[in-house]
Amino acid sequence: MFGKILIANRGEIALRVHRAAHDLGIRTVAVHSTADASAKHVKLADEAICIGPPPARDSYLNIPNIIAAAEISNADAIHPGYGFLSENARFAEIVAEHRIGWIGPEPAHIRMMGDKVEAKRAAARLGLPLVPGSDGPVTSLAEARRVAADIGYPVLVKAAAGGGGRGMKVVPTADDLETALAQARSEAKAAFGDDTVYLEKYLLNPRHIEFQIFGDGRGNAIHLGERDCSLQRRHQKVLEEAPSPVLSEADRQAMGARCATAMAELGYRGAGTIEFLWEDGAFYFIEMNTRLQVEHPVTEMVTGLDLVREQIRVAAGLPLSMRQEEVRMNGHAIECRINAEDPETFAPAPGLVTEFHAPGGMGVRIDSALYSGYRVPPHYDSLVAKLIVWGATREEARMRMRRALEETVISGIRTTIPLHQRLMAEPDFIAGDYSIKWLEAWLREGPSAS
Ligand code: ADP
Repeated sequence: MFGKILIANRGEIALRVHRAAHDLGIRTVAVHSTADASAKHVKLADEAICIGPPPARDSYLNIPNIIAAAEISNADAIHPGYGFLSENARFAEIVAEHRIGWIGPEPAHIRMMGDKVEAKRAAARLGLPLVPGSDGPVTSLAEARRVAADIGYPVLVKAAAGGGGRGMKVVPTADDLETALAQARSEAKAAFGDDTVYLEKYLLNPRHIEFQIFGDGRGNAIHLGERDCSLQRRHQKVLEEAPSPVLSEADRQAMGARCATAMAELGYRGAGTIEFLWEDGAFYFIEMNTRLQVEHPVTEMVTGLDLVREQIRVAAGLPLSMRQEEVRMNGHAIECRINAEDPETFAPAPGLVTEFHAPGGMGVRIDSALYSGYRVPPHYDSLVAKLIVWGATREEARMRMRRALEETVISGIRTTIPLHQRLMAEPDFIAGDYSIKWLEAWLREGPSAS
């Protein structure tokens, strides 16, 4: 087992990794930008090293400085968290070249799944169901017209290098194709430095359902069920739950087994998430994330498994701590992402947190780097807390979330807590009846009258 881990991240996820490491008796090294000198992950870690000025490209994305920090501190391994360098295959290779352990998948698998065209090809090879679309990149308007006519409008133009909900254009009719294609290309070039695009059928009312998988890199893999992440705004997840309110146990086990088999065949190592759209009982692969997800705690709450501990164990060469038959899913979990944003306009609202009080009690978990007197810096993602609850049933979890939101105090800055409070009382949410379109429509039109 590793003796010391460097955590190449910040905020709640840096804390999350620190806690799993300390639970295993492993010491931690925090890295931080100058803007984060008094951040909680810095205070709690055993050692802390400044890696640069506030902009992420100069600090949390600064590979030479992070490697230097690992060497200076004699860290045995690096955990990248999510975001930043977590899906950068080159970084994973550089870490390995410096004989530092990498708490993540093989660089080749990161690279394969990071290119959405390659990922779809791999998924098809591994027997996963795809969204109908082009077979690889589309290079000409004529080809795009052919594919679109074949799958039927509306279609979606997607950037192969896209991510974080960016790099997608809906094309309602054939008349819109030429402009959309050109726009998607130039936007992809500007945002990702790569103008490769492909076409997909645009599903009208799907749910987003993703499976958590774990591989040991030696041909064994398990699945830990699914998460429903359909409540989204601008393709960004707002609230997640496990299990999905619409999936039957038979469908869960069938799709979970297909995912696990695919990952075993790939020889995948570590945590991964296979994302699908789900419509009328059918699954359609959209992408795979080769890292820990923001919403991983809902899976932890229903399986009792510590996913970060598992990542560390597998990276250290230990076997998976559970066989598929031993995975038990129990009860229901919901996670609300609390962002430092205006709950009406979603404008970022960084600033001084004058008072922070975390909720508590049975079945309540808060993953947050906030403390009273902390100043949320303007340079990074606006997620400041994840509130996760467990209940024996979905309704018990919902009531508990309502209560926990009521208890939470974050003063001095605006947060999305009021949005979550309204959601908890919304009949469609109570019924579990929502698709990926639901939240934006609700925000536009206001709560349903019932
Ligand atoms: P990203 O890597 O940017 O997160 P994804 O491919 O995972 O991109 O898609 C993000 C979200 O965009 C999905 O959760 C879904 O809401 C929407 N989306 C993606 N593909 C489609 C599609 N073919 N039809 C309808 N919506 C889609």
